[in-house]
Amino acid sequence: QEDVFKKVVSHAKEYGFIFPSSEIYDGLSAVYDYGQNGAELKNNIKQYWWKAMVQLNENIVGLDSAILMHPTTWKASGHVDAFNDPLIDNKDSKKRFRADVLIEDYCAKLEDKAQKEIEKAEKRFGDAFDKAQFEATNPRVIEYREKQKTILARMAKSLENNDLADVKALIEELEIADPDTGSKNWTDVRQFNLMFGTKLGASAESAMDLYLRPETAQGIFVNFLNVQKTSRHKLPFGIAQIGKAFRNEIVARQFIFRMREFEQMEMQFFVPPGTELKFYEEWKQKRLNWHLALGLGQENYKFHDHEKLAHYANAAADIEFKFPFGFKELEGIHSRTDFDLSAHEQHSGRKLQYFDPERNENYVPYVVETSIGLDRMFLALFSNCLKDEVLEDGSERTVLSLPPALAPVKAAILPLVKKDGLPEFAEKIFNDLKYDFNVISEEKDSIGKRYRRQDAIGTPFCITVDHDSLTDNTVTLRERDTMKQERVKVEDLRRIIDEKVNF
Ligand code: ATP
Repeated sequence: QEDVFKKVVSHAKEYGFIFPSSEIYDGLSAVYDYGQNGAELKNNIKQYWWKAMVQLNENIVGLDSAILMHPTTWKASGHVDAFNDPLIDNKDSKKRFRADVLIEDYCAKLEDKAQKEIEKAEKRFGDAFDKAQFEATNPRVIEYREKQKTILARMAKSLENNDLADVKALIEELEIADPDTGSKNWTDVRQFNLMFGTKLGASAESAMDLYLRPETAQGIFVNFLNVQKTSRHKLPFGIAQIGKAFRNEIVARQFIFRMREFEQMEMQFFVPPGTELKFYEEWKQKRLNWHLALGLGQENYKFHDHEKLAHYANAAADIEFKFPFGFKELEGIHSRTDFDLSAHEQHSGRKLQYFDPERNENYVPYVVETSIGLDRMFLALFSNCLKDEVLEDGSERTVLSLPPALAPVKAAILPLVKKDGLPEFAEKIFNDLKYDFNVISEEKDSIGKRYRRQDAIGTPFCITVDHDSLTDNTVTLRERDTMKQERVKVEDLRRIIDEKVNF
């Protein structure tokens, strides 16, 4: 697993997807830059989300609100008082950790043990293996699972009561060690606010303390009436937004899973009070379907319904994805009640109500939110699609089998040789396709090497121009996944590519 993750990180760098930020200065911890292919993939994910949410839903509109917001926003939202993580330092290694993550990782190891028992039994019993039956009756699996439950329940309760001494006691009882040094010498647990502060204004006296937004949602809440009135939408309706968010995370080697500057794709759906749980269930399913449509495999997703709810929610679930380091949150679906709008009403003194013509009354709408990290989605796709394959002839290739709709480059146009008019012919095809697709042209290296490079960045099609092309106006079209090659007419290229990459 560790190796898979390392391979993901190095492949992302080697092929121009993700670089450490300000690398010439040795980088900045948990901050990353997207390279030429990463920027394309990220843009494609955004468009795919935006189309599914905004374009295909008559009652959802977009928004692009500012990163800097009036500081009272964060008082009202609860972030100033409660957007904390429990932090613990290791006295020997001087390294900092999130106490809850240390405990969760401990539980993940117990789950690994349970999975190993299951796999062993599966091998032993073969086709006759009844997994559900085994999980329900095997004493070791039951023990591992019960232990996880007890630990997580105790942690949740301690955090809820802000009993940080008990969180530390739990870490000590479980004998959790610094994963790198093995040291068990911990400091006390304390709360750490994750918001980045900054200042607005020139002179020290007039400067105002601001925060970089830790989520995009609040920009939607404070604009609720502006959008509702100008779009003339009736409830239920939604506002969607893609944008940067900033959190001063306590992080340990998680690449783009947990960054200090990241992007969110959020949608707040405003509904009449009392209908929120119906819409919550609906959005849970719709969002899962969105993921499944990408074809990364149903077995890689699961819902995690929250038992412990945030102060603003009356129901919440995560869509978890199987990352190289196990199942982790990819997206959250939350029923946020009227908490945010009511809090902004109180703090601003402005009404944030909706007149419902059917009920003939004014009320503060309830909100169901879907919130997905763009970078986490990137990592989900990238890590799932990166594969080493052994081919029939025994050779190997690395292929990034991204859904064609999201691939950074849709087709690479490759003249077989750099002479005899082949490059000019390739250029004609390039100029013809570039208005519809992101295509590239490559002349360097052998054709085999060029195919491999395109496989490694996930290009669905390679178009090879050879001497016959000049006379019969056909090219060889190679498909990434099957590696099948067929001869097609130049004038058919646009249609064939479009059928595959359109969404
Ligand atoms: P976690 O428990 O992993 O810290 P969270 O519950 O705080 O996440 P939310 O506040 O619900 O996350 O944010 C919604 C989504 O934003 C998450 O599902 C995740 O995809 C993404 N996200 C949150 N924090 C980060 C981060 N530091 N880096 C990248 N993506 C993030």
